[in-house]
Amino acid sequence: MNSVLPDDPVSLERYYDWLNEDVLPYTIDTAAPTFIGHMTSALPEYVHDLSRLVSRLNQNLVKIETSKSVTFLERECIAMLHRLFYGLPEDFYQEHIQKLNSNTGIIASGGSTANLSALLSARNRLLYGPADEPAGSKSIYFLLREQGYRDMVVLGTELMHYSFRKTLSVIGLGSENIVRVANDALGRMIPGDLEEKIRSCRKEGMLIVAVIGVAGSTERGSIDPLLQIGSIARQHHIYFHVDAAWGGALAFSEKHRMLLEGIEEADSITFCGHKQLYLPQGISICLFKDPAQLGYNAITANYQAKADSFDTGRFTVEGSRPALSICLHASLCVIGKRGYGLLIDRSIDHAVCFARMIEETGGFELISRQINIINYRYIPLPFRERWRNRELTVEINRQIDALNSEIQNRQFHKGMTFVSKTTIGHAIYGRIVVLRAVLSNPLTTQEHLRQVLKDQFSIVDELIENQVYEP
Ligand SMILES: *Cc1c(COP(=O)(O)O)cnc(C)c1O
Repeated sequence: MNSVLPDDPVSLERYYDWLNEDVLPYTIDTAAPTFIGHMTSALPEYVHDLSRLVSRLNQNLVKIETSKSVTFLERECIAMLHRLFYGLPEDFYQEHIQKLNSNTGIIASGGSTANLSALLSARNRLLYGPADEPAGSKSIYFLLREQGYRDMVVLGTELMHYSFRKTLSVIGLGSENIVRVANDALGRMIPGDLEEKIRSCRKEGMLIVAVIGVAGSTERGSIDPLLQIGSIARQHHIYFHVDAAWGGALAFSEKHRMLLEGIEEADSITFCGHKQLYLPQGISICLFKDPAQLGYNAITANYQAKADSFDTGRFTVEGSRPALSICLHASLCVIGKRGYGLLIDRSIDHAVCFARMIEETGGFELISRQINIINYRYIPLPFRERWRNRELTVEINRQIDALNSEIQNRQFHKGMTFVSKTTIGHAIYGRIVVLRAVLSNPLTTQEHLRQVLKDQFSIVDELIENQVYEP
C-alpha cells in the first residue's frame, strides 16, 4: 500500500532484504512439477545466463543503430521458423533472409501483439493497398464507405483467443464484428459452416478482414482443420491467419507434426517462444508467408525506422524491444529440432497418461484430451449413476459446476498442486465448468500427476464433509 517515492535512496542490501521478505515468498513457482495448469513452466538453466547477457548488452531492436548484428540474428531465427512452418524452397530463404524491405516475420512481445500485427496487415492490405504510410492517410471508416462496405468482420470459432477481441478494438472493430463459426464436439471449426458464414457476410455487404484458425486452442488444445479452412479462404480470396501460439510447437515433432497439416496455407502464423519453447516471457513471433506483407504495416520516421532501412521499428507494433531473440536463437540451436520434438512428444505422452489416470479414478469425467491439454471434471457420488446413464440435468450440471469451481479454488489456495479451470461449450451438457490441465513442464513425472489427483480427492472429501457443498 506504499505510494510514497523514497526521497533518499535505500541501500541495495536493505532493498533485497525487503524483496526477500515481502515479495519473493509469495510469487508462483511456475517451474513446480505439480503445477500443471499454466502455459508457463520451467526454463533451461542457460537461459538465465543469456537473459543476463541481454540485459548487459542492452540492445534496442527498434533500429540498426542500437542493435546492429542482433537485427540480423533475429532475422535468422525468424527465417528458421518460417522454414519450419512453410518449408518454401531453398532459394526463397537465400533471397529473403537478409534482404532489405523483405520480412519473413517479426518478433513481438507476445502472442497477443503477434495476432494484432497479422490482422493489422490484413486490414491494411484490403483497405489501403500498398501505400507507404497507411496510418498517415484516410480513416478506415472513410475507406469502407468509399469502397461500398457496410462494416468489417473477422471469422473464427468461440475458441479463438481473447486477444483477438483486443486486436479488433485496436483496429477499429467491436466484439460484435466477430462472426462465430460453429465448432464440433471437440471445439474444431466446421468448414461447411465457414462457407455458409462467408456467403452471408458477403451478401450483407461486410468486408471480411480474415479467417482465423487456431492450432492448439488455449482452453482445449483443439486444432481447427487448417487444410480445409485454408482452401476455403483461398477460394474466396480471404486472408487466413493461424494462431499457433501454443500448438505451433508440434511442428518440431516428426510424430505429431501432421496435426498441423495445412498450416502452410496460412498468410500468417502466430507462435510463442515463451510457451512451448521454454523461453522467458516476452518473445513471440508472427510469420508472414509473403515477405512483402509486412509492408502494409510500415510506418516510418526520419530519425529511426527509416524507409529502406533494416530498422524493425518500421514494422512492429512495439517500438523499443529487447534482444530476447538471442535466447530464441540459442535455444533453436542448443535444443534444436530433435530436442524440441522430444519435449513435445513427451508432453503429449504425459497427457495421454494423465487422461488414462483420470478415467481410472472413476470419480472424474474426462471431457477431452487434445494434444497436451486436458479438460475434466469431478462427478460427486450421488450423481454417478445418472452420469453413467447420461441423465444429468441442467440443474445437476450447475451443481457439478459449483463443486468443480470450488475444488479448483481450494487447490490454488492450498498451494500444493495446481490445475486451472475454464468454461467450455459441451455437445450434450451445454456450457460447463471444467478443470484444465496443461502438460508441458519437462520436470513433471507420472508420480506428480498422481499427486495432483490425490490432492483433488482430498479437497473433495474436505468440501463434502464440511457441508460447503450439499448435493
Ligand atoms: C497464449 C496464447 C495467446 C496470447 O499470447 P500472449 O503471449 O499471452 O500474448 C494467443 N493465442 C493462443 C492460442 C494462446 O495460447
